[in-house]
Amino acid sequence: MREIQALLTGGVPAIPNPRSGDVFDPNSGDIQARVLFGDDATLRAAVTVAEAAQPAWAAVNPQRRARVFFRFKELIERERDALARLLASEHGKTVPDALGDIQRGLDVVEFVCGIPHLLKGEFTEGAGPGIDVYSMRQPLGVVAGITPFNFPAMIPLWMLAPAIACGNAFILKPSERAPSVPVRLAELLREAGLPDGIIQVIHGDKQMVDAILDEPRIKAVSFVGSSDVAQYVYARGTATGKRMQCMGGAKNHGIVMPDADLDQAVEEIVGAAYGSAGERCMALPVVVPVGDATADRLRERLVAAIGGLRVGISTDPDADYGPVVSAAHKARIEGYVGLAIAEGSEVVVDGRGFTLQGHERGFFVGPTLLDRVTADMRSYQEEIFGPVLQMVRVDDAQAAMHLATRHPYGNGVAIFTRDGGAARNFAAQVEVGMVGINVPIPVPVSYHSFGGWKRSGFGDHNQYGMEGIRFFTRVKTVTQRWPASGERQGSSFTIPTMA
Ligand code: NAD
Repeated sequence: MREIQALLTGGVPAIPNPRSGDVFDPNSGDIQARVLFGDDATLRAAVTVAEAAQPAWAAVNPQRRARVFFRFKELIERERDALARLLASEHGKTVPDALGDIQRGLDVVEFVCGIPHLLKGEFTEGAGPGIDVYSMRQPLGVVAGITPFNFPAMIPLWMLAPAIACGNAFILKPSERAPSVPVRLAELLREAGLPDGIIQVIHGDKQMVDAILDEPRIKAVSFVGSSDVAQYVYARGTATGKRMQCMGGAKNHGIVMPDADLDQAVEEIVGAAYGSAGERCMALPVVVPVGDATADRLRERLVAAIGGLRVGISTDPDADYGPVVSAAHKARIEGYVGLAIAEGSEVVVDGRGFTLQGHERGFFVGPTLLDRVTADMRSYQEEIFGPVLQMVRVDDAQAAMHLATRHPYGNGVAIFTRDGGAARNFAAQVEVGMVGINVPIPVPVSYHSFGGWKRSGFGDHNQYGMEGIRFFTRVKTVTQRWPASGERQGSSFTIPTMA
């Protein structure tokens, strides 16, 4: 059985007698590898090495640090296809979708190639008589990232690229369900010239997460995963004084106004609801048509589009989406469909019990459409994270906005309309972190930033963009005066002002 090792740099000893986890191939249902978990002693050793290495890395001038990321970008591009196949084999998403996962992470690597500019501080000349004020952004020291299974390239890169470019040492604890690509990315970063000790990848489950959270020498933790875990991680990390950003789950609504281009909306919604088997925090699992006439027309088109979907293995070039990540997750998704029906939803297309010929043990779930879902249903309130689209009918635009605003999650939302004024009003008022206007998956580009509201995000600062730079640095502000020799002001017993 293939073993997936930690990536320990700078002389951290190998892990003795490791615990391990099974890594499946979701296409076949077989265990394809064992991932070796670190223990508390390994983490402590990794932090010791990281802490010793970090000051020298922070002292490397930012232009030279940027060059490591320029080379890293080239190496990822060189290995892009192999990375995508490896990623798809552990996650289950199609190879073209895996290429997108890598590209979205690469975008952040490209962003941090501008780190000399991004870290330029602020300067005020003459803030008072002979007084200048300047501020600088300094790294935090040793920081960590804990990532989910569903974007094994993009999310580790969201974190490690800004953290390391800012001059920190970084410890990554990737998802134990899809650990190979994060390790390979760290190897490529080493190949790009990153010094010993600045990156460590340690595998594990809750035990390793707790060890990271309780380790006082780790100054900040970036987490992405499900909301209950995000909230727990946030509380435990802040209790030990860490800076924490914890992104959680989602239940994104796609609102379809009566004036929307329905053919366009249906194409977009089907892709966003069923792409990656719905295992995206920016998927669109809830569609909200405004008015019954819109709902009926939309439903008819959705049923036709779903009928044309092809579920297949990750390497099938014609597959629209592949298997979900595990047998347990498949059972959970199908359980939610059963719950939704028991709660009174109408099942229009039922994807339960789906099997793919030749891959009967794979973790496939057929596309599912539920109509007449209502806001009080548990199946609506909770994240299903599968290829299940729930339709909630409302009478007017205000009710649609309230639905998204009142939902416990607030990651993304999309509105489909031709009315610019209505869209603008919606974007301004809805209580959700990322808004799409005729854009189904409004994941912001790498030079903006990513973050949800309410139960979709705990802590401060979004991921990547300037928000990522802010999260992984702290500001120091210097007020300076160079008095001429003999120039004296005498003691002052009032708060100094520039008045
Ligand atoms: P998860 O919460 O199960 O795991 C995330 C990480 O936390 C993993 O590294 C895992 O090892 C660790 N973990 C799991 N259980 C833990 C526990 N009890 N205590 C401490 N650590 C624990 O999430 P997942 O299933 O890997 O990923 C899917 C979830 O992530 C979905 O809810 C999805 O919406 C969310 N997600 C959110 C975003 C975002 O940016 N908001 C992006 C991608 C995924």
